[in-house]
Amino acid sequence: MNIQPFHPENYRSIFILTGAGISVASGLPPYRGPGGLWEQADIARMVDGANLPESLPDLWRLYSARRRAALDAQPNVAHHAIATFQRRMFSTPAKALLATQNVDHLHTRAGSVVLELHGSAFRSRCLDIWCSQPSFYDEAIYENVPHCPTCGGFLRPDVVLFNENLSERILETALNVAHSCDLFLAIGTSGVVWPAAAFVQIAVNSGARTINVNVEPSGNTAFQEEYIGAAQEILPQLLG
Ligand SMILES: [Zn+2]
Repeated sequence: MNIQPFHPENYRSIFILTGAGISVASGLPPYRGPGGLWEQADIARMVDGANLPESLPDLWRLYSARRRAALDAQPNVAHHAIATFQRRMFSTPAKALLATQNVDHLHTRAGSVVLELHGSAFRSRCLDIWCSQPSFYDEAIYENVPHCPTCGGFLRPDVVLFNENLSERILETALNVAHSCDLFLAIGTSGVVWPAAAFVQIAVNSGARTINVNVEPSGNTAFQEEYIGAAQEILPQLLG
């Protein structure tokens, strides 16, 4: 495969979107595909927002396990390549937004500034949306459903569950960059599921160059270039 590194100084605005595929080399399983979390019917039930609050005990067992797995994992070469690239971009007039569908905090631990589209496994918030308790960083492992320090109600993981909406503020930020970017780079995401599919479609309609890096072809024609392979092998070359 002939990988042409791109030159960040040729762009005004770069949108980098990452999905579960980037964390596989860190030992964290993807959501879909062989061995993916979503193949397990019980997990699909746990992560359905429609099943709250009855699902809270199972949901906390799952997210405590995910916290433990993510804490045991380390950011890999791909996370570090993006963090290094972001630092280079900060010294230029161009803008680069990194958004992720992952909740594992590995971009942050690699030193990136990242927009977490689906929230974070390491944040908790009150189940009561009217409670004044703000979402807070939390790496505790819980045996039982934890209680809100403000109102005494139940806490939940601050992640976007199935059948729940992305935060409007976060979605708006990502959509604005999708409209204005001149380079859109997707990594480790199928690129065919919302919102990734919407972002790349908006970007290509707005005239951006669109690139996909994944272990299999997306089948999404909105991507003009695809690099098929492991992110940790392709990104260090692509990002220089
Ligand atoms: Zn509360």
